Amino acid sequence: MPVAKHSYEQVASQISELREKRDDLQTILESFEDIFKEQYETGQSFQPALTGLDFTSCKKKHFDGVPFINSKNVSITWERLDALAKKICDITRPLAESGESEVENFLKLLSESPERWHDAILTGILEDRSPLKELAESTHIGYDTLIFISTQSLTPFIEKYAERLREYIDGNVWLKGSCPVCGSEPLMGRLEEENGKRHLQCYLCRTNWEFARLECPFCDNNDLKKLRYFFDEDNKHHRVELCDQCKSYIKILDTREVGDRFSLVVENLATLPLDVIAKRDGFTRDTNRLFGL
Ligand SMILES: [Zn+2]
Ligand SMILES: [Zn+2]
Repeated sequence: MPVAKHSYEQVASQISELREKRDDLQTILESFEDIFKEQYETGQSFQPALTGLDFTSCKKKHFDGVPFINSKNVSITWERLDALAKKICDITRPLAESGESEVENFLKLLSESPERWHDAILTGILEDRSPLKELAESTHIGYDTLIFISTQSLTPFIEKYAERLREYIDGNVWLKGSCPVCGSEPLMGRLEEENGKRHLQCYLCRTNWEFARLECPFCDNNDLKKLRYFFDEDNKHHRVELCDQCKSYIKILDTREVGDRFSLVVENLATLPLDVIAKRDGFTRDTNRLFGL
């Protein structure tokens, strides 16, 4: 069974607790506190159209290694998506620094021809990045900025679909490192308190699923000679697992040390200094690329 996700209230109190302790992350934490609030409110007002989903095909998709949702079987309320994207731009503009003109270019696109973004976003995020790559190039928005705004804006909508689909996940059948619901990469992982099993959490729809303990989620490498990890001596419950085969990394929270009260969306922010170390050592991630990290 997938791990129950943390409520918005838990996320909000975790982030405000963290703000009191971490001077080094003030601006980022403040921004994400606002982003999580806006995402929550957008999600609360969205009812997914389930008519496009064929629940009876979930089992077959699972066996075939295909995620439950795709760009064709979800529908988004575009006005709500646009409204959330505008708010995310306002919140992140002070952080964007050199990317400020990119944010302005995105807002220009949104007011002049939002349909160009709408045409690219579902395929671009759920299946193949090329429509968003092309859009970024032709509008001078910047690829990382466009991906960030697109994923953060889409999250509450896809999360609402995911809430209806998670019960169909079977950890004995789905053995992949990508999300069984939406096909996206994991944001982070956690080692479970009771049994030490590893669960990954999707960066887009925030679904949790079980994944092999000693295998790279990005390239399926399970050669132990090419897998290693490091941790911060002061925070041994946070570790970074590295794959020498594909040069990717994933951050892991060891809940056996600290219990299960921490949400990974906040832990991801608390551990940003670990991303800096991993990236300095030549490891990369497709997600987590904002703020020059
Ligand atoms: Zn997902
Ligand atoms: Zn790998």
